[in-house]
Amino acid sequence: MNIPLFTTEEETKLLKEEILNEVERVIDSGKFIMGPDVTEFENEVSTYLGIKHAIGVNSGTDALVIGLKAAGIGVGDEVITTSFTFFATAEAISQVGAKPVFVDVEEDSYNIDVSLIEKQVNENTKAVIPVHLYGHAVDMDPLMNIADKYDLKIVEDVAQAFGSDYKGSKVGTIGDVGCFSFFPTKNLGAYGDGGLITTNSDEIAEIAKMLRVHGSKKKYHNEILGFNSRLDSIQAAILRVKLRRIDEWNEGRKRVANKYIEILDGNENVVLPKSKYYTNHVFHQFTIRVKNGMRDSLQNHLKDEGISTMIYYPVPVHELPLYNHDINLPITNKLKDDALSLPIYPHMSDEIVEKVVSKIINYLRSDSYV
Ligand SMILES: *Cc1c(COP(=O)(O)O)cnc(C)c1O
Repeated sequence: MNIPLFTTEEETKLLKEEILNEVERVIDSGKFIMGPDVTEFENEVSTYLGIKHAIGVNSGTDALVIGLKAAGIGVGDEVITTSFTFFATAEAISQVGAKPVFVDVEEDSYNIDVSLIEKQVNENTKAVIPVHLYGHAVDMDPLMNIADKYDLKIVEDVAQAFGSDYKGSKVGTIGDVGCFSFFPTKNLGAYGDGGLITTNSDEIAEIAKMLRVHGSKKKYHNEILGFNSRLDSIQAAILRVKLRRIDEWNEGRKRVANKYIEILDGNENVVLPKSKYYTNHVFHQFTIRVKNGMRDSLQNHLKDEGISTMIYYPVPVHELPLYNHDINLPITNKLKDDALSLPIYPHMSDEIVEKVVSKIINYLRSDSYV
């Protein structure tokens, strides 16, 4: 048995011809950098999300760095975020010269606990980065209230939640800036690196567009220090094909998640992920919590059985050597020891889900009787 955590095998079978035709079209056009496919993709994705501006960039990390800069965040500023995320969230804050301030997460959604944010706000606080972790939206209404009260910018990290929504609005369209990743394993994945910045602000959009091309509006008339961070035309053409399937594929992930929940429901050895009423969870990851200190041994057992799983994230960002913040985040600390992400991808069959679950149930059952 070999069950991967994620695979593009089935989608490749379905789309290979269509995608190769699109790639050929771009090659024949000779327009590789900022070609028409980038503009077309930006138009299509802004319509899909319901946002005024969509700006393609080189990666999700660059989307965060450029998004923060365009929102005016820089040296001396503090940005509140979660420690239970991929390093890039905090890395982007540090890259613009600001300081990340970490608060704890909610035990049920794994997302930043918005009720803890206000306590950390001081005169240097300029922004919050909510991370819609695993595809589940952060509770945005109370967060936007805090932002209004203290005049903070909200820069959403939507890397794991393309297509998810909060009370009917797509995530990445609620704060000042949305930052998306098209890393191949993300819900909308390119065949290489890619990212996107979204905003309804004309001002932020204008700066972000300059920043991605060396700080210029007009070629060779550079005005500010920028980056070389463009979405590649070939990736844009591929993303246009895949964008047309995103809802169907997010539904596929939900089917898999519901199947896991159906068979694991009531099992006393695990805690299942719950979707809160306000979000349409798109299950970038299906992450359970394993009780009784059994997470690591379960993971090893599944590995021996040919089933890949991952620990997102074994070291919370605030404990990484670069930060090493001496703070106590009790829920984050619990999650790093018991969270386990199980295989999930849009075309995963119910039969494979059943195989994974039976191995989990049998292992945890046998062990609890030892
Ligand atoms: C993947 C990811 C990023 C970074 O995206 P890249 O495209 O790999 O640069 C940022 N934040 C989170 C939460 C992610 O999962």
